[in-house]
Amino acid sequence: MKISRRSVLKITGFSVLALTALPRMAFAARNTLKSLRTGVQPGNKTRLVIETSVRPSYSLSYPANQLIVTLPNTAANTGISPKLASGTLVKSLAQAQVSDTLQIIVNLNKPIAQIQKSNILLLEPNGDNDYRLVLDFVAGSGAASASSATGTAVAKSSAPSKKYTIVVDAGHGGKDPGCIGKGGTREKDVVLSVARKLKKQLDANGFKTHLTRSGDTYLKLAQRAEIAEQKKADLFISLHANANPSRKMKGFSIYTLSEKASDEEAKKLAEAENAADKIGVEGFTEFEENIRIALSSLQQHAVAEMSEEYANGCAKYFKKSSIEQQPGPDVRHAPFAVLRSTVPGALLELGHLSNAAEEKLLKTSAHQDKLVAAIVKSVKNYNFDV
Ligand SMILES: [Zn+2]
Repeated sequence: MKISRRSVLKITGFSVLALTALPRMAFAARNTLKSLRTGVQPGNKTRLVIETSVRPSYSLSYPANQLIVTLPNTAANTGISPKLASGTLVKSLAQAQVSDTLQIIVNLNKPIAQIQKSNILLLEPNGDNDYRLVLDFVAGSGAASASSATGTAVAKSSAPSKKYTIVVDAGHGGKDPGCIGKGGTREKDVVLSVARKLKKQLDANGFKTHLTRSGDTYLKLAQRAEIAEQKKADLFISLHANANPSRKMKGFSIYTLSEKASDEEAKKLAEAENAADKIGVEGFTEFEENIRIALSSLQQHAVAEMSEEYANGCAKYFKKSSIEQQPGPDVRHAPFAVLRSTVPGALLELGHLSNAAEEKLLKTSAHQDKLVAAIVKSVKNYNFDV
């Protein structure tokens, strides 16, 4: 027995309406809806929180003036009454059970822009809360063209693809050369060359790309992170090259931000990269402090998750391109100051300047092109939206 979507879609009005006549189904859904609530967030964002008993998988669609959240293997819960805050974009909420799939139908006052991944949080249980799927959205256009007139199918969004903004950060610069190979190759020069090539290729692939520095200039780490914030970047990529006390050590390595380093080597590396700021005179605490305030622990969790996803994809494309990898895990973690922002991202150590063969390789245009091609693939395959 299936419930008619049409009858669900007819629900209007400003009160919260849950379907009362949900049929009892002969299935045992793994997940159960526990609560539904909305709220207002800074920046005129509407927040929808869907609480479930186990970690939900979900998909989103955007029929006209609606948002539909589809939760497979989930049972409706008619015993709950959604809590709707005033001043949100949500007019009413309804549940529709179609076989073992639950749909939360969000009727909206206005069409909304497609929700970006950075505005979706999947939270682990804590305190009195179970798993929570948190969606923040704003009014907008673009996603509402899909028709739900027949109500028979949830149309896929036909929003025009957004131009994603990437900030590429060439490490070091100016009075800070970074590490220097035995043959005199300076990290700041290699990474600037790669950054310029990368910008060209990303732009050619439809991204809006900004460089933190396009010349041989010194920038503090916080300034680099601040550029990513100002440009409202969707992704931040910081490019570096490595030095190791062992001249035999070679290969790339990829890092994401974590206040605790994943290993001793990652810790030392972060200390070395962070030392770039000691060359500057002024402190950078003010910006960092602002970021800490702006980022709730929930958001930090979301940014960390997205960064991890990007970094793993990046490692995959480096390996696929037969770029030599430093022995160890695909993605490591360390407290890199340059990664402290609200923008997901990773720090890429492209290779070792302390290794004679790799120093030579990193200077060649052919190898730089290979690195750039792998990074472009990682960006193109990164899932910016859900
Ligand atoms: Zn560096």
